[in-house]
Order: sequence, then C-alpha cells, then structure tokens
Amino acid sequence: MFRAAFIEIMRLVVNGLEEDQRLVPAGIATLTDRMAQESIEGATLAQRICYQRVTAIGQTDDARFTVTTAKGEHQQVDRVIVTVSTRAMQVSLRLSQQPAWLTPAVRRAINETHLIGSSKLFLLTKDKFWLKQGLPHTILSDTLAKGVYCLDYQPENPQGHGVVLISYTWEDDSHKLVTLQDKRARLERLVDELSATAPAFARHLTPMNNDPRYILEYDWLTDAQALGAFKLNYPGDDHYSEALFFQFQSARDSVTDCGLYLAGCSCSFTGGWAEGAIQTGINAACATVHSLGGRLLPDNPLQAMSRHYHY
Ligand SMILES: Cc1cc2nc3c(=O)[nH]c(=O)nc-3n(C[C@H](O)[C@H](O)[C@H](O)COP(=O)(O)OP(=O)(O)OC[C@H]3O[C@@H](n4cnc5c(N)ncnc54)[C@H](O)[C@@H]3O)c2cc1C
Repeated sequence: MFRAAFIEIMRLVVNGLEEDQRLVPAGIATLTDRMAQESIEGATLAQRICYQRVTAIGQTDDARFTVTTAKGEHQQVDRVIVTVSTRAMQVSLRLSQQPAWLTPAVRRAINETHLIGSSKLFLLTKDKFWLKQGLPHTILSDTLAKGVYCLDYQPENPQGHGVVLISYTWEDDSHKLVTLQDKRARLERLVDELSATAPAFARHLTPMNNDPRYILEYDWLTDAQALGAFKLNYPGDDHYSEALFFQFQSARDSVTDCGLYLAGCSCSFTGGWAEGAIQTGINAACATVHSLGGRLLPDNPLQAMSRHYHY
C-alpha cells in the first residue's frame, strides 16, 4: 500500500471515510438486497434487472447500442452505463478498442489505471476463544500472516461462534497467497507462520467441527469479473482518475456525446470505497437523463461540476 499515490490516502482522511463505521451483522449485501426489493411504478428493481454477464457492446446504424450477454441474447438499448472495473472494461468488454466512443486519454486511463490485489481468508470458529482466553483481537506482523482480525458478529452472545480473518492482505502479500489455491493448505501455511509469533492464538485456528466449509477464501486478482480489488493509483497517475471520472460530461455536448458512460469505483477519486461508486453512478445517470432529452435540477454534476485539478 505504501507504493500507492499518497493523494489517495489523503482523500481517505479528508473525506472521513474511516470514521463512524458500523458493523452490519447480516452483511453489507443486505443493503443492495433491500434496494432490489424497492417497488418503483409497480415493479421492483429486481424485476427490472437482467442479471447476466455482458460479453460485448456494439452499436447499431441508428446510434443505439446492442448489448450481448453470455446466454447469446442481444438487447438494444438507447444508452449504456458501464460500471465494471477498468481492467474488465479493457479485457472483457474491449472498451479501449473503441475510438468512436472514448477519447485517447480515457482509453489510456482504462488500460493503465492500477488496481490493487487483495486476498482474504475467513475462518468460522466454535467459539470466541480470544475473549475467553484473553488473547489479542488483532495481530499485525511482517510475516506471511500479515493481518489477523477477530470479528464478533454476535456481541450479545458470549457463547456464540467466532470469525477470524486470517489474513487480510494487499498487493505482494496477496500475490504470494494466490499460489496456495487449496484453502485448507493456505490456512495450514498461515497458521504455521503464526505459530512462531503467537502460538497461544494459533492453537485455536481450526474451523468449526473441522469442517472445511467453514473456511472461506477470496482472491480479487483472479476474479475474472474484477481482475483486481480496486483502483489505487500509483504516484503521478491521478490524471487517469480525472479522465475516467469526468468522462460522463461528454454528454454535455451532442458532438462529444457517444451515449456510453463510465462509472463505478475504479472511475472515481475514491477507489475502494462505495462512495466513489455511488457518486460516479449518479453522474452517469445525470448524463443519461440529459442525453435522452430529460431535464436536470440546477447544480447537477453534469453542468455545475467543473474540473478542479491542474496537474
Ligand atoms: C477487499 C475490498 C475491501 C473493500 N472495503 C471497503 C470498505 O471498507 N468500505 C467501502 O465503502 N468500500 C469498500 N470496498 C469497495 C466497494 O466494494 C466498492 O467501492 C464497490 O463495490 C464498488 O461498486 P461498483 O458498482 O463500482 O463495482 P462492483 O461492486 O465491483 O460491481 C461491478 C459488478 O460488475 C460485474 N461484472 C463484471 N464484468 C461484467 C460483465 N461483463 N457483465 C456483467 N457484469 C459484470 C462484477 O461481477 C460486479 O458484480 C472494498 C472492496 C474490496 C475489493
């Protein structure tokens, strides 16, 4: 992480992104699940979603778009908002091969934006052993098991199960773990490493009932839909975020408006935070409304937001 542009870390502090955090016991997916159940004009959001992998985006003679899905279906749409990671934009959707839609600066930003690698391995334990045994809740080290965190999803029940995140890693530390593809082997290797520095803690690191179903691991780098965890620019690369973030403003002018808008966390100034995904999503929605002849309120991001940076 120390190789990331410091401006990324500064934004995190200035925007207060690490403040007032709350635990969502049922998981953050409950937020989107509930949004999907919202009814708008007689149909829920879930009913309006076609949940399929997009394999290609093309254009028709009348400047509409054809979206092809993995099931081989072709849908014609008036406008497109793309919210996948920049790497997925390049590798899967081939957007940087589309000079008719995107400027050279935006295509370069898609290809060059740095995404950070990350891995997590979670363990469900029989009990919250760290509370019972007076052991640390967090262990940070310079070993392979870099960051170990004990999570209490049932604070009201001292007899409840425990969850241990061993280990939460980034970049090189994550890339090393990617080679340990068997999750049990990965757990054993991490526990072995931890045994040298925290033997009393490491002794408890077995999944409940010794059942491998209670080991969960995830590597974002090898996720074919993401190809990385999230955007974190290298020093000097902030102008890529600027090119991506303001791409939606191509809708201001019919000459530059191609009808396709980029959004999502990796096109934002706050990669790695839902904040950036929401902000760019709203921006792209404004572009779509304007492009289709709708009216926006004053002070909208399309017309009222200007570029602040002079690199
Ligand atoms: C390890 C990690 C830790 C994080 N921690 C935090 C945190 O503490 N707080 C916080 O606010 N944010 C955090 N984030 C960031 C947060 O998850 C993102 O900001 C948010 O999910 C981004 O939303 P999005 O809609 O831009 O992209 P995503 O949520 O990545 O959604 C993009 C979707 O597009 C799908 N997709 C890809 N290709 C295709 C295709 N061809 N066709 C159809 N669908 C496709 C993907 O499968 C994915 O579901 C974290 C992210 C990671 C990876």
